[in-house]
Amino acid sequence: MSVELGKPAIVEASTPPICTSCKRIVGPSDKGVSFLCPNCGAILIWRCRFCRKNVIPYRCPNCGFEGP
Ligand SMILES: [Zn+2]
Ligand SMILES: [Zn+2]
Repeated sequence: MSVELGKPAIVEASTPPICTSCKRIVGPSDKGVSFLCPNCGAILIWRCRFCRKNVIPYRCPNCGFEGP
């Protein structure tokens, strides 16, 4: 018998935020930051600690604005 290694299903209503730059989950202890898109203000941008430290650019999925 083999155990199926699927992704763990997230059934909670409050799904963790995903880093806009690297698409990784920003955990509560991750010291990630969130802010509204400075261009359109409609999208909440999340950045994880790694992307902040490495100044990875983000891209707004709504208006396409890119920024550091
Ligand atoms: Zn990231
Ligand atoms: Zn935007």
